[in-house]
Amino acid sequence: MFGVVLDVNEGTDSATTIDAVMIGGGQAGLSTAYFLRKFGISYVVLDHSPAPGGAWQFRWPSLTLSTAHRVHDLPGMPLEVQDASRPASEVVSEYFARYERTFDLNVRRPVHVSAVRDDGERLVVESSAGTWRARAVVNATGTWDKPFLPYYPGRETFRGRQLHSSAYPGKEAFAGKHVVVVGGGASATQQLAEISQVTSTTWVTRRPPEWRDIGKFDENWGRKVEAAVAANTARGGPPRSVVSYTGLGMTPEVKDAKERGVLERLPMFDRITPDGVAWDDGRFIRADVILWATGFRPAVDHLAPLRLREPAGGIAVENARAVREPRLFFVGYGPSASTIGAARAGRVAATGVRDLLRSQVPQAA
Ligand SMILES: Cc1cc2nc3c(=O)[nH]c(=O)nc-3n(C[C@H](O)[C@H](O)[C@H](O)COP(=O)(O)OP(=O)(O)OC[C@H]3O[C@@H](n4cnc5c(N)ncnc54)[C@H](O)[C@@H]3O)c2cc1C
Repeated sequence: MFGVVLDVNEGTDSATTIDAVMIGGGQAGLSTAYFLRKFGISYVVLDHSPAPGGAWQFRWPSLTLSTAHRVHDLPGMPLEVQDASRPASEVVSEYFARYERTFDLNVRRPVHVSAVRDDGERLVVESSAGTWRARAVVNATGTWDKPFLPYYPGRETFRGRQLHSSAYPGKEAFAGKHVVVVGGGASATQQLAEISQVTSTTWVTRRPPEWRDIGKFDENWGRKVEAAVAANTARGGPPRSVVSYTGLGMTPEVKDAKERGVLERLPMFDRITPDGVAWDDGRFIRADVILWATGFRPAVDHLAPLRLREPAGGIAVENARAVREPRLFFVGYGPSASTIGAARAGRVAATGVRDLLRSQVPQAA
């Protein structure tokens, strides 16, 4: 145990002073908390979800760990899945809850963080449960809270139903309707594969899909992908979709959909009409539902006061640390935006926090 508890001072003034505040209690936040606790650093995890599980608690019911989805272990406690056909939302949430209890992690929820500011000495975290003044802040807010919906002319005139893939209720909700699925990622193909079992569908994507056989995944390939994402993140490049790095995985269900002719993709439509989608070349497809499987963006609005955004659109982060703000760490961001990456980055960020606090000890004395 490394004794760097500099101070935890609750309730003497309007702000609580503490060594580290973690924002977000998913895979990334819990992994970091595990190591901070191990290092003896005072911390709190502020998580605005109602219960343990991070984004996994909100995943659609048909998403399970039996096919493409794999959740990497949190540090110090394996995920032992007894029944991979149960909804991932239940299995993973139970695992995270067990993890929090086992290691007695200091997680407070539901607590929403609205802003992080610099008061010159500390980072000030403003939340629905009060204000914290921290020597270090670890951002672990993921992307689930920021679904991305591109704008196409006429979107507001559509008379049918529009929803984002994150709100996908399961295929039964679409029976008898014509569904246009927008997007070229894994959510699009997996949801198309399901919906097409009960009704007619159209698939539109901006670019032709680049298929990757899921069996071809190996460690070397994984490292190359991670290095490419890390390079983009270090220069503050714009967030890019996972498939733009990895290609599109061909699971057995997706392969089956392909064989059924479901994945004959059309280019993006040019506009939306009250009854469907239309192309400038005169094509029109009637639609009852437009399902936007168009991805997510990092949930970092609360960091806006720190003015970290680079001209290219991203926040520059290297080795889990903001390039422009050494007291701010990012986990589950850029190259660590996967369950394996988040678990690894937790250790890197916690070690960075420990080193930062050590370097501050002489000034604090
Ligand atoms: C549909 C889907 C399937 C996926 N499947 C896989 C997979 O099989 N394997 C894999 O490795 N990766 C997968 N991923 C990616 C994976 O989910 C993530 O990399 C990882 O689980 C995210 O963990 P996280 O802790 O970074 O974020 P999250 O799990 O999103 O946790 C972030 C937490 O922060 C909280 N939060 C957000 N903003 C605030 C705020 N302002 N104040 C307080 N709290 C806040 C949220 O409530 C949430 O609890 C998938 C992603 C999606 C969208």
